[in-house]
Amino acid sequence: MNRFTYLAFLLVIAPVVHADLRVFTCEPEWGALAVEIGGDLVETYSATHALQDPHYIQARPSLIARLRRADLLICSGAELEIGWLPQLLSKANNPEVRPGNSGYFEASSFVPRLDVPDSVDRAKGDMHPQGNPHVQANPHNIYIIAQALIGKMAQLDPANADRYRQGGADFLERWQDAIAVWEDRAGVLRGNRVVVHHKSWVYLQDWLGLIEVATLEPVPGVPPTATHLGELLRLLGDEGDGADYIIRAPYQSEKASIWLSERTGIPALMLPLTVGGSESATNLFSLFEDILDRLLEAGS
Ligand SMILES: [Zn+2]
Repeated sequence: MNRFTYLAFLLVIAPVVHADLRVFTCEPEWGALAVEIGGDLVETYSATHALQDPHYIQARPSLIARLRRADLLICSGAELEIGWLPQLLSKANNPEVRPGNSGYFEASSFVPRLDVPDSVDRAKGDMHPQGNPHVQANPHNIYIIAQALIGKMAQLDPANADRYRQGGADFLERWQDAIAVWEDRAGVLRGNRVVVHHKSWVYLQDWLGLIEVATLEPVPGVPPTATHLGELLRLLGDEGDGADYIIRAPYQSEKASIWLSERTGIPALMLPLTVGGSESATNLFSLFEDILDRLLEAGS
């Protein structure tokens, strides 16, 4: 083979080498995880951003078009997206990414779910009948989910399977080291009492040993009411037992937590619930660093 025909041969086979994976995620943390594993092999698009409530969004045409082209759909699941994902899936008409098919990945199905109710009563609000879906708030869950996701990505893009496995192994090692550092820093938080806006933090509480003493929502999914806040003031105010912080996610109105904070002196904190939820939470590592920074600063 002379040099010219060899070059022509290369030109023909070269484009096949790069096969990327189009990943559509319901929440930003899963896109961030896919990128940690796959790097530039992965193109991600998230249906929600960190300043949106993932329980409630509109199935916009731009989302439908993106989902139609996706190879892999990653969602927290456990019915977190029940209000919009089924409609989005039916309009996108992409059978590969439907639940039960190979392109669908339900992150929360890989970890032990907390708050699974004994009985379901929809009248009591957004009950999360399959257990609490906000699993990303414990980094040990991210570790378990990453292990499963590496296999899924390798399965869907076999040409690059080794690169996903290598990128994934590298991530898992760095993640484990980071968890050890975080747990060292967070030891002093154990036993702290928290008031939460919505039950978005049960996995964080479980990880750090925080004790939830009340929720600003009277029942899950129902915004705080004057009556309920009055009761919390009695429970936590001058005569009450207090708490160490009041926590909300960036998409929740600050009104109720500030109202209660001003009357009780308990600090009100915004914690990023996912990547992009604060200026410094730009990836999964800085997400947890920022959560700890904020909790430790309020406690000091
Ligand atoms: Zn929820």
